[in-house]
Amino acid sequence: MQDLSHFVDGARVAGTSGRFGDVYNPATGEVQAKVPYATKDEVDAAVARAAEAQPAWAATNPQRRARVMMEFVRLLNRDMDKLAEVLSSEHGKTLPDAKGDLQRGLEVVEFCIGAPHLLKGEYTDSAGPGIDIYSMRQPLGVAAAIMPFNFPAMMPLWHVAPALVCGNAVVLKPSERDPSVPLMLAELFIEAGLPKGCFQVVNGDKEAVDALLDNDTIGGVSFVGSTPIAQYIYSRATANGKRAQCFGGAKNHLIVMPDADMDQAADALVGSGYGAAGERCMAVSVAVPVGEETADRLIDKLVPRIEKLKVGPYTSGDDVDFGPVVTREAQQRILSLIDRGVEEGAKLVVDNRNFSLQGYEDGFFVGPHLFDHVTKDMDIYKTEIFGPVLSTVRAGSYEEALGLAMDHEYGNGTAIFTRDGDTARDFANRINIGMVGVNVPIPVPLAYHTFGGWKKSVFGDLNQHGPDSFKFYTRTKTVTARWPSGLKEGGEFHFKQMD
Ligand code: NAD
Repeated sequence: MQDLSHFVDGARVAGTSGRFGDVYNPATGEVQAKVPYATKDEVDAAVARAAEAQPAWAATNPQRRARVMMEFVRLLNRDMDKLAEVLSSEHGKTLPDAKGDLQRGLEVVEFCIGAPHLLKGEYTDSAGPGIDIYSMRQPLGVAAAIMPFNFPAMMPLWHVAPALVCGNAVVLKPSERDPSVPLMLAELFIEAGLPKGCFQVVNGDKEAVDALLDNDTIGGVSFVGSTPIAQYIYSRATANGKRAQCFGGAKNHLIVMPDADMDQAADALVGSGYGAAGERCMAVSVAVPVGEETADRLIDKLVPRIEKLKVGPYTSGDDVDFGPVVTREAQQRILSLIDRGVEEGAKLVVDNRNFSLQGYEDGFFVGPHLFDHVTKDMDIYKTEIFGPVLSTVRAGSYEEALGLAMDHEYGNGTAIFTRDGDTARDFANRINIGMVGVNVPIPVPLAYHTFGGWKKSVFGDLNQHGPDSFKFYTRTKTVTARWPSGLKEGGEFHFKQMD
């Protein structure tokens, strides 16, 4: 059993609260580590140390800060296999998926290498006689990042890297379910040349989160997780005068038009619905075939593909399509939602409720499930299940399918599969959802674009990574300067045009 720690001032530091959380190996159900839960005092001390370290880091020129990112990229690639192994052992996802988690995080760090260009300000020469105006982007100071379990490398990197390269110090509160990789990332940043104290990791639960939200030194809060907590964090952080961006849950619809390539659509649904056991905020959880005939053809294609999926521990290598879910609680919640769907009258066409894996009977596995004839009043349609469960809602027309996705409270991602350019264009223009795929099931934008949903999938107004992250982690300061040669005699008492 491993005792995990916090990471403060460049080193691992044991917790003092005496409160710990269990970190499981979801494949076996065994507790493999204990993670300390930080007290308010521990959090405040980590923030105070970050605030001491931040001014010198902010004064380091952007090119040097970018070089730390460059070196971090090299180190992460060096340690990719080791990190992926630890990540899989705590999260349960397959090794290729764990590498994908690290890789998509790494791409944002690569984007951050462009900081010297991205942080350039604006300048107006001779805005008035001898007057120049310039604006610059300055760091917030200390930023906090509160992250979910489902991407323990990618999500922290999407926030920590832009925050740091903009000249902030960061205090990260990773998920208590899989905290080891974030601690390893903190060590790699120190090895890459980041000054101590600029990146602190405090582990914990609500007490640690609330301490961050109430700490006056924290200038900005980024949160990723479920919608109720996102809403709570946004309210409390903004009530305390902080800038906040909080990303929540999802229920992503994939619309299949009658003219779609049905094999392609079925493959896409299986990959996006069941990959990572459905524990992705961009997982497709609702298939919407348009027309009864399309629906029948789609179900015929889906069932054999889903029945072939292999579920197992990450240690089985490439033989496995997806692993267990993260905790026993998550497993029980998903299974009870499946029962609820049956009670509600949906047709469970792939039923693996009795799934069990020999040798891993205590693991948190959930076999793949497919529902047909789901309707919009059902709980399984309204709720984010966050498991390997795909619901099919049959729509009579394109307009009905579009309306379904538009009326859902979540608005993270969506996709349409069609061969018709007009329909695809209409869909992309009218849909009230933040990320849209056309014949692409999981439209996660690359690092140099931005990532974010609409509706109840987000609270706040700037997206993750890409140019938005540089806006979120900096404040604009605008200087209006006049030099003596431009001065006329006499004072000025009124706003006036600068001519
Ligand atoms: P979660 O909301 O349970 O936890 C997220 C973080 O909040 C964790 O660090 C946790 O310790 C903390 N937390 C939990 N309860 C809290 C409370 N009462 N007060 C203060 N802090 C609290 O989410 P999760 O289960 O870790 O992650 C899964 C969720 O994240 C899903 O809903 C998924 O859709 C969402 N997600 C969204 C995005 C996105 O970009 N929109 C990306 C990834 C995951």
